[in-house]
Formats: sequence, structure tokens, C-alpha cells
Amino acid sequence: MSVPLLAGCNCEAIELSFGVGELNAISRFEEAIFRHRRILGEDEVLCRYRAVSSRIMERLRLSPSRMNDFTNCPQLYKYRAIDLLPEPPSIDAERGKLIHSILEEIFELEMAERTYEKAVELLPSIWAKQLESKPELASLVLDEKEWFDRARALLTNYFSLERPETFESTYRELHLERDISDEIYLHGYVDRLDIAPTGEVRIVDYKTGKSPKPGWEEKALFQLRVYALLYWQIHGVLPRLLKLIYLGDSRVVESTPTEPQLKSTEKILNNIGEEILTAIESSDFPTKKSRLCDWCFFKSICPAHVG
Ligand code: SF4
Repeated sequence: MSVPLLAGCNCEAIELSFGVGELNAISRFEEAIFRHRRILGEDEVLCRYRAVSSRIMERLRLSPSRMNDFTNCPQLYKYRAIDLLPEPPSIDAERGKLIHSILEEIFELEMAERTYEKAVELLPSIWAKQLESKPELASLVLDEKEWFDRARALLTNYFSLERPETFESTYRELHLERDISDEIYLHGYVDRLDIAPTGEVRIVDYKTGKSPKPGWEEKALFQLRVYALLYWQIHGVLPRLLKLIYLGDSRVVESTPTEPQLKSTEKILNNIGEEILTAIESSDFPTKKSRLCDWCFFKSICPAHVG
């Protein structure tokens, strides 16, 4: 079916072809995006309408965090991945970014230089760059001394768990990507991937929060199993170790992935992907109320809470 679409952003009108499900989905997206005009502004609404329309025709693009959004609450996934609604920066996420950047930089240095003192020395300049790229952060961080104290405490915890001056890291912020089916493209960024001289692979992820309560480690490891699966499928090497480093309470969660575990991860991924595709085709993204709602930026427009 061919439908003319008005494109914004000084672009000309375009004509696109859709299946019936896609057309239904787009008409609902249109409603949603126009309903959120007050958040996005007129020009932005038109840009996003066009972006969403063309994205639907592409392969479904998934990452562990987007899948997590969908399993936590399909409506939240929709706000973020389909409606592309903007969210203000979160102080915890920005703190995480700062620490990740320092640790990334530390591994660029000669081994002998990778000390706690050097990491603390890097702190002001890396924070200055982060502020420069996002000036609105200045209003989030009102007490810079407290902000730096907290960052230093997280770095102290890191250096109590690892000694980066004793080993080489092979990759930082490694992008892994692969089509896991005809319809689903999966990708993610690995904080650190180390390949030992013996060829064994270790996948590492830093978390600036606290470790999961006993019994929740498996859920926490899902993201690293996705990366392990991608690495295994791309390079034919089964990673030897998955390591989550929690800087909030100086704890490490480790796991050795097995082939059956990664095959089961692949099944879960395909199932979530299928559920998302079904939700897109039917334009049905149910709300899922939970404690998460108290931290959800979209609570004020969410049908589960409004009216
Ligand atoms: S407020 Fe709760 S139910 Fe609504 S989108 Fe956010 S997480 Fe989902």
C-alpha cells in the first residue's frame, strides 16, 4: 500500500509503501507523537514522525537496555524507542558516564601510570569535557565538592577490586553487532573486553550502583550473556568469564558462560524481539506498573497514572 507522507525539516513530501500492520502502527505513532507535541515542538514532531516511519520499515534494532525497557514496561519502551521522547539527564547516569570515561582513559596509559592518583588527576578535566558537551549538567551538580568526593570514593572502590597496572585490556567500549534473525539486529557496547595471551576472553562491565541482592545475580548477568553470545557468534570463541564490577559497594559478580546458557539467551532474545515486533504491528504497548514508575520520567503522561 502506498501512502503519501508529509515530511518536515525542510524536506519534500515523500511516498512510502507499508503493510497494513505497519500502517496501523504508524497511524497510532502519529497520534502519540502529536499528543506529545508540547514536549517535542512542532518541527521536532514532524522530524520524528518521518524517522519513526522509516525506522519501522527497517530491521528491528535491539540492545540489552532497550530489551530491558520492554520487559520492565512495554509502554516505557514505546516512549523511548518508538516515540523517541526526550528525557532530562539523570545524575546517576552522568556519574556513571564520568567514571566509565576515567576508566577508559586509564587503560590508554602505560601500565605503570594506571594508578588511583592518576585516575583522580583525570577527574576534573574529564568532567569539564562532559559539562562542555552537556551544559545543562551544571544545574544538576550544585555541590561540585560533593560530586568529586563521590567520584573519588567510586574510584577508590575500583582500585580495591582491580589492579589495572598489572594487565592489558584489549578493547574498551567495544561495539558488537549482528543480525540475529531476518528481522532483528542486535548490538551493544562492552565496557571492556580483555583477551589473555592464552586466548581466553573476559567481558567486563562497570556499574556505579550497588550489587544485586542475593538471588538477583542471574538477571544482572543477562546483559553480559548477550555480549558473550554476540562475541561467540562473531568470532567463534566462547568467552571464559563475565565480570560485573559494582563500584557502589565494591562487589564483583562473575560467571563462566556455557554453550547451553548462551543458546538459551539467544532464545530469550528472539522471544523478546518477536514480542516487540508483535507490539509494533498491533500498536499495543501495555503499561506495567511497578516501583519503577516512581523513577519514570514519563509518569506524568503515562495512561496508567493519568486520568
Ligand atoms: S510510569 Fe510506569 S507504567 Fe508508565 S511508562 Fe513509566 S514505567 Fe511504564
